[in-house]
Amino acid sequence: MDVLLVGSGGREHALALALSRDPEVSGLHVAPGNVGMEPFAGIHPLDLADNAAIADLAARLGVDLVVIGPEAPLVAGAADAVRERGIPCFGPSAAAARIEGSKAFAKEVMAAAGVPTAMAHVCEKPEEVAAALDAFGPPYVVKDDGLAAGKGVVVTEDRDAALAHAAGCDRVVVEEYLAGPEVSLFGICDGTTVVPLVPAQDFKRAGEGDAGPNTGGMGAYAPLDWTPPGFVDDVVARVLQPTVDELRHRGTPFVGVLYAGLVLTARGIRVIEFNCRFGDPETQVVLSLLRSPLGRLLYAAATGGLADAEPPRWRDGAAVTVVISSAGYPETARRGDPIEGAEEADRLEGVDVIHAGTARNDHGRLVTAGGRVLAVTAYGSDLRLARDRVYDAVARISVEGGHHRSDIAARAALGEIAVPTA
Ligand code: AMP
Repeated sequence: MDVLLVGSGGREHALALALSRDPEVSGLHVAPGNVGMEPFAGIHPLDLADNAAIADLAARLGVDLVVIGPEAPLVAGAADAVRERGIPCFGPSAAAARIEGSKAFAKEVMAAAGVPTAMAHVCEKPEEVAAALDAFGPPYVVKDDGLAAGKGVVVTEDRDAALAHAAGCDRVVVEEYLAGPEVSLFGICDGTTVVPLVPAQDFKRAGEGDAGPNTGGMGAYAPLDWTPPGFVDDVVARVLQPTVDELRHRGTPFVGVLYAGLVLTARGIRVIEFNCRFGDPETQVVLSLLRSPLGRLLYAAATGGLADAEPPRWRDGAAVTVVISSAGYPETARRGDPIEGAEEADRLEGVDVIHAGTARNDHGRLVTAGGRVLAVTAYGSDLRLARDRVYDAVARISVEGGHHRSDIAARAALGEIAVPTA
């Protein structure tokens, strides 16, 4: 099978690695790709905003499957353009991708499907925002309705800050605050059937102890041994399957990854968001645990064959990923700073140094080229060993001006995460 993977971040490097390790994938192409993928994939230039260019490239390469990583091209209809050429595509249509593209639409689908989520008001005028904030009380949760690369949500005790964030958006969703540990669960979908992967937890805040601004994600680990028994089946039955059924009934079947961002509250599971693609950096840890072939699974989803597909198989043990970001992230991202030690760290046992915002300068040196630079990922026979390995690898890498969190998966490794009880 020949595969074209679209995207250039850490998520796509992790997907590309897993595809390259699938013996059934004979030809792997990535576009636009990144430096980390050069050793094992064909790299093609591509403008991700150009749907026709994506479809043209897939047709020219004659691939059997296109996998689209990032949300922006999906929301803009890239998967539709590929399917119109008769090429199987793993990724939802623009109509189905609205589940991520509009938080208000996601709320409407959840209400229709009976999916448990935070109570919310969709607001366009400042006085509506003020009334909604006062109805729910602090902590205040204000979400930009549209795509904002993981940075459109403000959770704050400060009413003025909540109002200021809303003032910068056309339309916002104001929600009740949900207390409890967060879980990301990816469901592989073919429009009808949902196949869950292992749950993961990510770390959205920039600073230690979950302080500071939201980012695209500073680290993750999987699996989550503190979730209640039957948790994954419960999420499929109450969240993923009803949502997939609702979208199919509306004539917009969901093909791709339906990513449920959940909070385990004292009152049960609640959805805080849906995404229409793999999460970054959770993909790095989830795929590090996958033993069965990824290409076959994604092909089955793209061609409506999941009901008959072999379920994914998983390694025992755990995986942790730690993101090293560039100077100034998340406000800015300084480019061109040298990166040392990445190749050496990648050679350590059980470690994959996943590239995200990297490039080679004119002298062939690895330098920063984005906010999240590397996602250093390690597998271990348990979570503590995976943490030891990942931080040993991180210690060998230097990114000038860069930073990382030293507490990724720390509380889980100590057994300190508990689901609140009513
Ligand atoms: P989102 O982009 O919707 O995933 O939100 C980003 C982050 O904001 C989430 O990972 C949560 O940490 C936080 N968040 C979003 N919605 C809520 C909520 N209703 N209650 C508490 N925290 C929330």
